[in-house]
Amino acid sequence: MSRRFAGQRRPFKPFRAAVFLLLIVVSPVLTSCGENTDSFFALDTSISIKIKGSEEDLAALKDEICAFDALFSPNGTQSAIAALNREKKVSDEWAFDVLKEAEEYRVLTGGAFDPRLGALSSLWGFGTGKTAVPPQDKIASLLEKSLASEFDFDGKTKTVSLSGEAVVDLGAVGKGALADRLREICEERGIGSALISLGGNLTVVGKKAGGKARTIAILGPDGSSYACFIEAADTHIVTSGVYQRFFEQDGKRYCHVLDPSTGSPVDNELSSVTIVSENGAYADALSTALLVMGGEKALAFWETRRDFEAIFIRKDGEVFSTGIAYTLP
Ligand code: AMP
Ligand code: MG
Repeated sequence: MSRRFAGQRRPFKPFRAAVFLLLIVVSPVLTSCGENTDSFFALDTSISIKIKGSEEDLAALKDEICAFDALFSPNGTQSAIAALNREKKVSDEWAFDVLKEAEEYRVLTGGAFDPRLGALSSLWGFGTGKTAVPPQDKIASLLEKSLASEFDFDGKTKTVSLSGEAVVDLGAVGKGALADRLREICEERGIGSALISLGGNLTVVGKKAGGKARTIAILGPDGSSYACFIEAADTHIVTSGVYQRFFEQDGKRYCHVLDPSTGSPVDNELSSVTIVSENGAYADALSTALLVMGGEKALAFWETRRDFEAIFIRKDGEVFSTGIAYTLP
């Protein structure tokens, strides 16, 4: 097996890291001729867009993000997902496509990614503002009900039906699916260079001036210092990390990613998984799924597919990758 790991982790260099931090954090607010930027809150996260393009181009991307937010949000009168959870049926082409893709990823990952865990996330208090460890019997019964629900897809009418009591949650794939659409818009409008950040999802369109790939820093287990770097052009970089959303109870941390085999937050040796792929929805679903799988199963999964790149960062700070990550000398 030719695993191409990032190799030995080198000591963290604060000065070099600070330069990269400056580049990545500050660059979205710099404007020059032909560059336009925007940052705002949507999809329950911070969004930033930097493009080489017009204000109209920027507005087109923002409009798409807002349209997606309204259609895929867990609540709201315009939300297809809220309608599906309420009425067990929804007809909408965009929602149909994303739900169908999500169901395909559930099957592909052996259920490590599962879009039917909304009720369990709420039980743990994520998204409700009242996080707490629930009683084990409640977790078990809700998990059983959630996994018993099934989707039905009617391609002719673009209608999705859901049997049983599961609550659909596309939090682990939605931003990736949106990023795919945003890349299409860039192509349609001739936006040759863009950097779009949707929370933990980064989309790089084109290359930097001079034809160079962009250097992207990947966060370490503390969620603030950098563990490694990659070079990226025309791709999506999606990270799922246990430090992104969590609560603590009795000295133990509980993160927002649930293991569908237990109904409880993921608890293995991994701190984060970053996936690099030209398919944003795939990268998003896999970042969540491989975090659930843990390092060994995740590497075995990668071996069977080899159609994406991955960076695994363990809680002890060790970095493994499929060959793309490097550390600074
Ligand atoms: P991500 O940050 O992409 O890993 O997505 C995490 C979000 O997806 C959570 O906040 C939940 O809304 C939802 N989620 C949690 N666990 C899973 C899972 N195993 N499969 C699919 N969605 C999940
Ligand atoms: Mg994800």
